[in-house]
Amino acid sequence: MERNYLSKAIVLKRQDYREHDSLVIFYTQNYGKLKLVARGTKKPKSKLAGHIEPLNLVDLMIIRGRGQDYVGSVIIKEAYLNLKENLNNLHWAFLGANLLMRFTEEESEEISLFNLFSNYLKALDRPPLDFSKEEGEIIFSIFTLRMMALIGYEPQTRTCLQCQQKLKPENHYFDLLSGGMLCSNCYFARTAKNQAQYLNISEAGIKFLRFIFDNNSFLGKKLKVSKKIAKEINVLASSFVAYRL
Ligand SMILES: [Zn+2]
Repeated sequence: MERNYLSKAIVLKRQDYREHDSLVIFYTQNYGKLKLVARGTKKPKSKLAGHIEPLNLVDLMIIRGRGQDYVGSVIIKEAYLNLKENLNNLHWAFLGANLLMRFTEEESEEISLFNLFSNYLKALDRPPLDFSKEEGEIIFSIFTLRMMALIGYEPQTRTCLQCQQKLKPENHYFDLLSGGMLCSNCYFARTAKNQAQYLNISEAGIKFLRFIFDNNSFLGKKLKVSKKIAKEINVLASSFVAYRL
């Protein structure tokens, strides 16, 4: 007996499978990450093929088969065409999709991850705001940090990891290994071992980090960032992920 399920989904990856088929990884709204076989997509007349391009937001029908699940039908809801025409943003969108694939288990339902990823694609889909080329990178860093928080790695940004004191408004150090801030006193008390584990974060950088974890919006009227802060956050986000791979 085959059973069918419906969900909104975003295509993360598509690869050739058997002679005529594709293997497609979706992030679905209702069932988390799913790997499904799309039948006949390599035949010239396949209607399915055009709908399962990576980064499409679709209405998906899932067919649960014996041992293998299949794509029943797919209807495109949003193709993010602005994003796909901007090679720079396309690059950041694929990095986001890879990160999501890497850090999530199949069928571990997490609707907030689906919402985060679709909002991320929406943010990359519109024309650039003020600093074009670098903008995709900071949007990716915001996505990265929020995704890490949703899967259980939200760093504390208001108190010191070590002494638990509320952080004063000044520069502090981010401990990449433990995932949180250290006040200057505690940082210097740890002497000089393993410097690469710590990043100096400015007061403005810490404020921006708090904004990232307390809000859903990407860049825009409410969320603006200077190049200097963007650079700090980009280094932090990429190092934070690297410590958890
Ligand atoms: Zn401290």
